[in-house]
Amino acid sequence: MNAPLPLDIAEAAALLRAGRLVAFPTETVYGLGANAKNADAVLSIYETKGRPRFNPLIVHCADLAMAESLAEFSPLARQLAEAFWPGPLSLVLKLRPGHGLADVATAGLDTVALRVPDHPLALALLRETGLPLAAPSANPSGRLSPTSAEQVQRGFAGKVPVLDGGACKSGVESTIIAIDEENLIQLRAGALAREEIERVTGLKVQKAATGAAISAPGMMLSHYAPNAHMRLDAVPEAGDAWLAFGPSAPFAGISRNLSASGDLREAARNLFAMLHELDGTGAKSIAVAPIPETGLGEAINDRLRRAAAPRE
Ligand code: AMP
Ligand code: MG
Repeated sequence: MNAPLPLDIAEAAALLRAGRLVAFPTETVYGLGANAKNADAVLSIYETKGRPRFNPLIVHCADLAMAESLAEFSPLARQLAEAFWPGPLSLVLKLRPGHGLADVATAGLDTVALRVPDHPLALALLRETGLPLAAPSANPSGRLSPTSAEQVQRGFAGKVPVLDGGACKSGVESTIIAIDEENLIQLRAGALAREEIERVTGLKVQKAATGAAISAPGMMLSHYAPNAHMRLDAVPEAGDAWLAFGPSAPFAGISRNLSASGDLREAARNLFAMLHELDGTGAKSIAVAPIPETGLGEAINDRLRRAAAPRE
């Protein structure tokens, strides 16, 4: 029971191209992969994991060329990629115009975390699909990261197809480094030691400060923060921008509707783009309609609450 499906690369690639999820092995842990350019596919990651918040996801690439089609590589970024890819190093870089990634994969940020995994099956799958794959660990939210296909299979009760590559070498997540000009900032410690990065670049790797003294504004925020003041569970007033959900009375000011039919998946798909649009009008305040706390609504509300929280 619950034996991993005997999925081969061609079948796995076909599922991913069709917008479905496939769990696949990397050298760190098994990832729950989706086409990072397809918002619905990425939202399925959240639904399947039962993840209560939208985090920016690490986007896995077949090679440096694919990564360079998505983000801006400075000479320093290229040096790190050439030294450590394929390998357990995720680089947070500025998105490139025309990148095509779904904003639910980057959680609405203008940066993206990219890496090339060091595993023959992961690389074969990435090459076969030709797609960047968003892939957080393939476990239900709050449970341990899986290092075998059997664990993935058990975790999701056999509902997610798994490419079986045996046991993962490392079991430790990738090291995440943000690059801002000549500054290297470690956002997460992981399988690649900081000293290795320092040895190759001759630069000191700063550890991400929690809260205070952020040397590279924007790079450190792992959530999108609008300029406008946000009021949640609100009724719009004159001067507000209005973010509606479900059937809503006409409003004289600027407004968007996350989903006129009250569909949470549609709302999740629209969330970041509509927040950016309303914030971009220069409105001082954004009033947001109540959104049910069920299914994807939990992650939507979490994101809105964090957008509404006072800035540190
Ligand atoms: P995972 O669940 O292993 O995919 O981990 C993703 C981690 O990468 C999260 O802790 C994120 O906060 C971090 N991350 C991904 N993209 C970015 C980004 N653009 N800026 C800052 N942190 C990021
Ligand atoms: Mg995880």
